[in-house]
Amino acid sequence: RTVYVNGSFVPEDEATVSVFDRGFLFADGVYEVTSVLDGKLVDFAGHCGRLRRSLGELQMTLETTDEELLAIHRKLVSENAIEEGLVYLQVTRGAADRDFVFPPEDTPATLVLFTQAKSLIDSDLANRGQKIFTVEDQRWTRCDIKTVQLLYPSLAKMEAKSRGGDDAWLVRDGLVTEGSSNNAYIVLGDGTIVTRDLSNLILHGITRRAVLECARHLQMKVVERPFTVDEAIGAVEAFSTSASGFVCPVIAIDDNRIGTGEPGPVAGKLREVYIAEMRKSAI
Ligand code: PLP
Repeated sequence: RTVYVNGSFVPEDEATVSVFDRGFLFADGVYEVTSVLDGKLVDFAGHCGRLRRSLGELQMTLETTDEELLAIHRKLVSENAIEEGLVYLQVTRGAADRDFVFPPEDTPATLVLFTQAKSLIDSDLANRGQKIFTVEDQRWTRCDIKTVQLLYPSLAKMEAKSRGGDDAWLVRDGLVTEGSSNNAYIVLGDGTIVTRDLSNLILHGITRRAVLECARHLQMKVVERPFTVDEAIGAVEAFSTSASGFVCPVIAIDDNRIGTGEPGPVAGKLREVYIAEMRKSAI
């Protein structure tokens, strides 16, 4: 694979980053994951917008412009012949002698990108539906910033896996916030889609925004509010959204079957319409 690191496109085993990189020492960095369909980037503008916001919230500067970022994404997609998959981008505050105090303003950020070929549309998990276990949300309270500090979500997912599940939904004060790496939704008996309202406690998903727009176009009722684990267990359907999973049905929560225990029609319809819309607008 060809990867990108600080201005150069190089084979992955020739790419290097300093031992003193603050991403490595402090998790002082942010990232984005953009999906690729038909060799084109899905909702690139959305991901760029959120990247800029994450950088701003951490007073981090990246000289590279959005146009340059687009060109880098496209070059990696074509060099690695990615028809379907992901582009991962990471920006850190750069390399400096280890100190909690930020390095001088002129310290160049570290910019790294790589691709992952992956079947996204024909996905096993989407076909069979996910089994979720709920885990206490012990992350910091700036979950709206997409930082590379992913240890807690990783532990939570491992906990769910050890119980025979596919993923974890995180719960703060008895209310579901989101999945370990996706936004969480339930569908009530009257067809209303419920998902956590935007705040510092969840990542503002790029897929979430597009899927809610699809739902509204389809005349589905959407309510953005917190919901409890019990309400989720009693729902007729549940699903998650993310750039890598699109819309992915949930068939069980904490060993309780959701609805019929099969992927539901609302998630199915949203997945189909979302993928169709994104294929049209990908660049
Ligand atoms: N929530 C968390 C914690 C995530 O890590 C992610 C994606 O990585 C999402 C939600 C979904 O965001 P997006 O739809 O932009 O991929």
